[in-house]
Amino acid sequence: MAYPATVRAIEAELGRLAAEHPSLCTRTLAPNRTHEGRSVSFVTISGAGGGTPVLLTGGAHAREWAPPDALLSMLDRLLRAYEDDADLVIPAFIDTAPARDIEYPAASIGAAEVKRIVDRLELHVLALINPDGRAFTQASSANAMWRKNRRPPRPGSSCLGVDPNRNHDLAWDFERFYDDAGDVAVSASKDPCDFQVYIGPSAASEPEVRNVASLLRDKRIEFYVDVHSFSRKILFPWGMDDNQTRDASQSFRNPEWDGRRDGGFGGPYGEFIPAPLRDAHVRIGQAMHDAIVDGAGSDPRAQARSQYDVEPGLALYPTTGTASDFAASLQFEPDPPAERVISYTLEIGSDADGEGGFQPVPAIYPKIEREMHLALIAFLLAAAR
Ligand SMILES: [Zn+2]
Repeated sequence: MAYPATVRAIEAELGRLAAEHPSLCTRTLAPNRTHEGRSVSFVTISGAGGGTPVLLTGGAHAREWAPPDALLSMLDRLLRAYEDDADLVIPAFIDTAPARDIEYPAASIGAAEVKRIVDRLELHVLALINPDGRAFTQASSANAMWRKNRRPPRPGSSCLGVDPNRNHDLAWDFERFYDDAGDVAVSASKDPCDFQVYIGPSAASEPEVRNVASLLRDKRIEFYVDVHSFSRKILFPWGMDDNQTRDASQSFRNPEWDGRRDGGFGGPYGEFIPAPLRDAHVRIGQAMHDAIVDGAGSDPRAQARSQYDVEPGLALYPTTGTASDFAASLQFEPDPPAERVISYTLEIGSDADGEGGFQPVPAIYPKIEREMHLALIAFLLAAAR
């Protein structure tokens, strides 16, 4: 499958993976068709049947072309290594963009670790959340920076689309959730004409969002990564407000704080996260970080280009209705689908160093791809402990 893949090629590749590994990989249609009538499928990989439930998603944002492709190539490598009882090998890569070539050595994940991942996990992968958006960005270079889905305009309006990473049912009505300063600071909008972050007409109104939410609930997901690009960040909860570990009553679930949350560092409100849960996110995030740096080899220039920040989502900017915060929020429900949820947004790549930002050119794509594979395999190994 050549990068960047079309929507059709992504579905074909999912079909091929399931057909070539029938005892390990099953393909299922997600329940909700998109506004333009497309179906997307997810695959489930499980060597022993069952196991710790994990979900990986990509392609929520239309213009972010690398994550769906890199998710599929990781599955291809993982399944082939498992079937062959062999190491998973990430080939060497020479980055020719800088003034002098930078070589990234081959990296390998041992056959025993591959076996542990496939046998101990029930790994669900929805590689392309937003196929309508991706098809639109690939139809014309004029559309290439489109981010949202393709929800049709309301009568009397010409503005299309909802941000699928602001529409989840968590702090969705940000004006009710925050104080006035928080309303201004948050990366969200109620204007359908907002090009980036329109939250939609109601919480979880979008079929793409309901597909992700139903997987999180129905599969009782305990480990989740939503892959985006770009900014070399490994973001853990929360993105809504700054983390605090002392006061469980300062919670998104507590309406007494509505209209009074500040949405920033410091201030009267901080979103509660139990210390062990925060520490687990830091520890696993650091393992993902270290895997990327180790994979860069000994050249300090390669190492410098492989530094991913491990930090709460708020460090980027305050966000509401995101998939990764929503996934984490489920464990705080009275009857949670999973007792503990570890959840990240992984932002792969950069707009510096010739990496191409949202749309890496094919010559640099293997660097972005290998960083994602190294990070996610470290994540899967943590889930398979
Ligand atoms: Zn994104």
